[in-house]
Formats: sequence, structure tokens, C-alpha cells
Amino acid sequence: MTSHCNGNMDSFVKVPTIKFTKLFINGEFVDSISGKTFETIDPRTGEVITRVSEGDKEDVDLAVKAARQAFDNGPWPRLPGSERGRIMMKFADLVNQHVEELAALDTIDGGKLFGSCKSMDVPGAANCLRYYAGAADKIHGNVLKMSREFHGYTLREPIGVVGHIIPWNFPTIMFFGKVSPALAAGCTMVLKPAEQTPLSALYYAHLAKLAGIPDGVLNVVTGFGPTAGAAISSHMDIDAISFTGSTEVGREIMQAAAKSNLKTVSLELGGKSPLVIFDDADVDKAAGLALLGILYNKGEICVASSRVFVQEGIYDEFVKLLVEKVKAWKVGDPFHPKTQQGPQVDKKQFEKILSYIEHGKRQGATLLSGGNPLGDKGYYIEPTIFTDVKEDMLIAKDEIFGPVMALMKFNTIDEAIKKANNTTYGLAAGIVTKNLDVANTVSRSIRAGVIWINCYLAFDQDCSYGGYKMSGFGRDCGLEALDKYLHVKSIVTPIYNSPW
Ligand code: NAD
Repeated sequence: MTSHCNGNMDSFVKVPTIKFTKLFINGEFVDSISGKTFETIDPRTGEVITRVSEGDKEDVDLAVKAARQAFDNGPWPRLPGSERGRIMMKFADLVNQHVEELAALDTIDGGKLFGSCKSMDVPGAANCLRYYAGAADKIHGNVLKMSREFHGYTLREPIGVVGHIIPWNFPTIMFFGKVSPALAAGCTMVLKPAEQTPLSALYYAHLAKLAGIPDGVLNVVTGFGPTAGAAISSHMDIDAISFTGSTEVGREIMQAAAKSNLKTVSLELGGKSPLVIFDDADVDKAAGLALLGILYNKGEICVASSRVFVQEGIYDEFVKLLVEKVKAWKVGDPFHPKTQQGPQVDKKQFEKILSYIEHGKRQGATLLSGGNPLGDKGYYIEPTIFTDVKEDMLIAKDEIFGPVMALMKFNTIDEAIKKANNTTYGLAAGIVTKNLDVANTVSRSIRAGVIWINCYLAFDQDCSYGGYKMSGFGRDCGLEALDKYLHVKSIVTPIYNSPW
């Protein structure tokens, strides 16, 4: 059995005092106009951590007004890029200085492993800021090759006021993945964190002010999707929206943008990513990779390797090694240094995952391991592996967003490619093989935004990612992310004094 390392959850780390619970508008923490608040819950216990201001349309209006004023009349878009970069570097240093506290906020709010937040998410966020800080003074256009006697060039200008709507699975990484390139581009913005994980975003707003980001440039409105989120996507004075979340809500965002002011939209949506393992693979390593790909962040990761395809020759050995590894996998208190998997983010997600597991059983898949909740409180689920999965089963088609792997067999390369592409999504894929020809063929044939060969989840700041098909469009990370926050303007003038 998978072990459950629970114990007194506060014994490992001192849970931080919650300092920021109000909306951050125009450089100040303020109550929502309605005065309403909502609970944010600790998924380790199901208990309330604190109450946070509940923003709605009127609060979004105020935040957009502040962002508009900061864009039209404030210094931020007009500063030399190097100066924006200097302030962003300071912001990054402040993030690094508060790493433990920030990591602990994401752990209590989202059930994320404290160790990963401390060593990866928060320092990674600071590096994200630094990456785009370094780009802020290198945003330039092109000189055009005009066919007649004109001089033509392009400028890349900040797009204006941006709305960011982010999910709960990586509260810190999502925050900075959106905010950093937008700041570098010279935009001003309103960000709505997910209602499940509002705490770190408010802390980051405080650090932004300390770093010297002018009032109104970065506003954070906490609240719910259909109210605060919808007010952002349908706002007449927001110029662009950058959304990460479910495909279902992505559709609503596009509709709202189309029905309001045709703001530009970029969507990072769901996935059902394949990991394809060929006969020549090191089976032990491949089994480890498959497990990490689905269980990292308790499966609440858009690029999770939720469909694992294994070639027939190594299938039995692979299954044996996978079972051994999953038995040693540790689920429990995310503050415990040995824990590998914490609780699911909330009761809704917990129940959704368990209902998919029931579907899998009902539709005839075989439960190789797991399948049950763990512990007597909180939202823990055993790492779950299904075999005998058919491609038309729900567990092979839908994004479960939990620790549930669908394991399938294949025979030929063509079959592997066909199966890997048999999804409405196209976010990521993995290939495990020593054969370069196979790796090249398969990586070029899978329709997805990132392909990992002999590795998985190998993200880096310069490595852009995003969707094909119903996984959305637009890219986060890499220099490509800047494009979402920039307009291209062509300027043309005659070379000689002409009658034009
Ligand atoms: P969600 O779509 O329900 O919520 C995401 C955000 O949208 C939240 O802030 C929510 O409040 C807001 N929202 C909800 N309804 C809205 C509406 N009508 N109008 C405007 N905003 C609204 O997604 P979730 O359940 O929070 O997150 C899980 C999903 O996010 C998964 O499908 C996952 O694949 C996806 N995701 C994608 C990526 C990526 O980079 N592609 C990364 C992380 C998560």
C-alpha cells in the first residue's frame, strides 16, 4: 500500500500569519465595495484558514480604472525598458527574501508540497521576473524592406490594460508567468487569482509595491469566476485577456471578449497528455518518469502524463516496476519533508477525481493500484493506476486533473502516434526511446505545444509552452510570451521630400 505520512501537520513548519486578505487596487489594500468576504480552506483538514475580500463587478471597475489611469497617464509604459527591468529585479529579490513564507502560503491554500514550493515555485517565480526584466529593454521592432521610396519600420508597443485570470494549481508560477512579461512590455493589469488560492497573490501585490511598481500598474481582485472573472473578460476597457484554466471556462472567456470589446485573448487550457514508451527504453527509468508525470503536484497539472502508452515487448515488466514504485510513494501532509503527494485542492476536486475513478471501474478498466481516498480528514487520494483502458473510456478522454493514470499498450510506431494524437487536447507529450529516428519521427508527428524526449516536466523559463487544438492558443514562458502583451505598429515615411 501507498504510505500515508500524516502526523501533527504543524509540527514540520510554522504556518505563517496571514497578513493580506483584502483587494489590492491602485496601490492600496481595500475592502470590497459590497463588504463581502469568502472563506479560503486548508485542504489538509477542510478547515477555514481565513476570509478574503470578495471582489465583484464594481471592484473590477475600480481596478480597471486605476490600471487605465496608470497606463494612459502614469510612468510605467513610458519608463525606459531598463528602468522597468531594474524595478522588476528588485521585485524578484523581495520574492527571494520571503521564500519560506510564500511557499507556506501556497502549501496551506493549495495542498502543494512545501519543499517543492520553496525550492522550485517561489525561486522559479523570481527567476521568471528576472528573465523578463532582462528582456524589457530589448523589445524592438524591425526595419521594413519597402518596395518604393519609403522608410518603414515597426514599433512594438504595450497592448494596454491586461486582465489575467489564473487557476489554483500553481498560484505562484501562474501569477508570475502572466505578470512578468506584461510588466516588461509596459502594460498595466488586473489579476484575479483562483478563489481556492488567493493568499500568495495578495502577498505578491504587497511586494510589488515595496519594489517600486507604481500604483495602479498591478491590481489584484480576489473573488469568484462567474462574478469577478466574468467582469474582467467582458470589460469594455480591458485591451487583452490572458487566461489559464479549464477549456470550458476558456470558451466563456472568448465569448465574453467577442461580445464586449473584442479584446485580444490568449488561453492556456486543459490537457490529456500522452507519454509514449518504446521497447528499447530503460524500463525502470521509464516507470519512474511515468509516475512522476502523473503524480507531480498530485496530478493537478495541466501537462500531467495521464495517458501512458507502453510498447508490447516491455509492457509486463513495466507494470511490475510501476507497481513496486507506486507502493513506495508517500501521500500525506505536504509540509512533511518525505511526502511526495499532498491533498487535492478542495472538496469539489476531490469528489470529481473519485467520481472519475468510479467511472473507470464501471466502464471495465482494471484498477492496478489505488482508487480510494486516504486518511480521515482532508482531501487525500491514493495514486491510482488503471490498466485495460480503452481509448473511448472517460478516463482516457477527459482531463481528470488528479493522480489517475490510464495505462495502454501499443505495437507499432504508427499506432503510437495515432493513439497519442487521439485527443481533443494538445498541450504536451513525452517519448521514451534510445532510437533517434523514432524520437524525431514521433516528436514531429504529435500535435502538442511541448514534447519531452527521455524526460518529462522539464520546464525552463526560456521554454515556451501552450496549446494545440482545444488546449488553447498563445504561449507562456519564453520570449514568445511577450507577444501577448504587445501591439505591432508600422510607421512609414517618404525618404525624400515628396508630394505624398
Ligand atoms: P477554471 O477554469 O474553473 O478556473 C480558472 C480561473 O477562471 C479561476 O480564477 C476561476 O475563478 C476563473 N473563472 C471561472 N469561471 C469563470 C468565468 N465564467 N469567467 C471568468 N473567469 C472564470 O479552472 P480550475 O478548475 O481552477 O483549474 C483547472 C484547469 O486549469 C484544468 O482544466 C487545467 O488543465 C487548467 N490549467 C491549464 C494550464 C495551462 O497552462 N494550460 C495550467 C494550469 C491549469
